[in-house]
Amino acid sequence: MTAIRMDGRLLARQWLGRMAAEAGGLRREGIVPGLAVVGGEDPAARQYVLRMERAAASIGICVRACPLPAAADEDDILGLLDELNRDDDVHGILVQQPLGAHIDARSVLSAIDPQKDVDGASPASQGLLTLGLPSYIPATAYAVAVLLEQYGVAVAGREAVVVGRSPVVGRPVAALLLQRDATVTVCHRRTEDLAAHTRRADVLVVAAGQAGLVRGDMIKPGAAVIDVGTNVTDSGTVGDVVFEEASRVAGWVTPVPGGVGPLTTAAILQNTIRSARRRARQLAR
Ligand code: ADP
Repeated sequence: MTAIRMDGRLLARQWLGRMAAEAGGLRREGIVPGLAVVGGEDPAARQYVLRMERAAASIGICVRACPLPAAADEDDILGLLDELNRDDDVHGILVQQPLGAHIDARSVLSAIDPQKDVDGASPASQGLLTLGLPSYIPATAYAVAVLLEQYGVAVAGREAVVVGRSPVVGRPVAALLLQRDATVTVCHRRTEDLAAHTRRADVLVVAAGQAGLVRGDMIKPGAAVIDVGTNVTDSGTVGDVVFEEASRVAGWVTPVPGGVGPLTTAAILQNTIRSARRRARQLAR
C-alpha cells in the first residue's frame, strides 16, 4: 500500500483563501481582525511570529507582535495581558510557549480573556473542551481535525490512539477526538507496550517529540497517521514517525514539515476571525 500524503501546505493555502473572504466581510463592517502574539525573543519565537504575520497580512488580519524581554517577570506579562484584554482592536491573544522557567505558565494563561483565548490555552478553555462544550480549539488539535475532515477520514466509532499527553498537544487532541465520537487511547512515557496500542489505531496521532518513535511495523494497515512531532536532526527536520515506512503501510500519512505545521497558523487566524465576528455582533446590538 502507498499511503496518501496529507498535504498541509495545500490545505492551509485553501483555508487562508476562504478566510480572506471572511476577513473582507468584517472589514466592510468596520472591523479589522486583530491578533496579539506575546512571546519570547529567541530565533524560533521570532520565526513563528514572522510566519504568522505573513499569513495574516495576506488575508487582512492585523498581527501585533509583543516580544517579551528575557528579564520580563510574571507581573510584567500579567500587566501586558491586562492591556491586551481591554484593547478593542485585539480580538485574539496568543501566548507563545514555553515561557521562562521563572514564570508560572498556568497563572499567565489563566489571565487571557476567555473571549480572546484563540489558542484555547487557558485552563478554562481546556476544561470546556474536555467537557465537550463550545470553546476555542487549540491550534494543533484544530489542525489535526481539519486534516482528518478534509481527507475524509472517518473518526466516529473508530479506534484513535494519541501518543503524548502534553497540555498543548496530546490532551487537547484526545479531547477533540473523543468529542468526535472516536474510542480514544492516550499513550505516554509510562505506557508499557506502545506498539500494542498503536497497532490497533485506525487514527494514530503522534506528539511525543521523539524522532523515529513510530516505525512501520507499529502501524495498522490502512490507518491515518498524523505526525505532530518536529525534531531538528543532522538530516533536517523530521517528525516522530518514520515517514517512508509509514507510507508503505498506512492509508494516509502527514509529512514533516508540510503536514500539521502550516495548518496551526491558519487555525489561530480562523479563531481570531471568529472572535472578531462575535465582537461585531456585540457592537451591532
Ligand atoms: P508536545 O508539546 O509536542 O506535546 P512534550 O514534550 O510536552 O511535547 O510532550 C511529550 C509527550 O510525549 C509526553 O506526554 C510524553 O509522555 C510523551 N512521550 C515522550 N516519549 C514517549 C515515548 N517514547 N513513548 C510514549 N510517549 C512518549
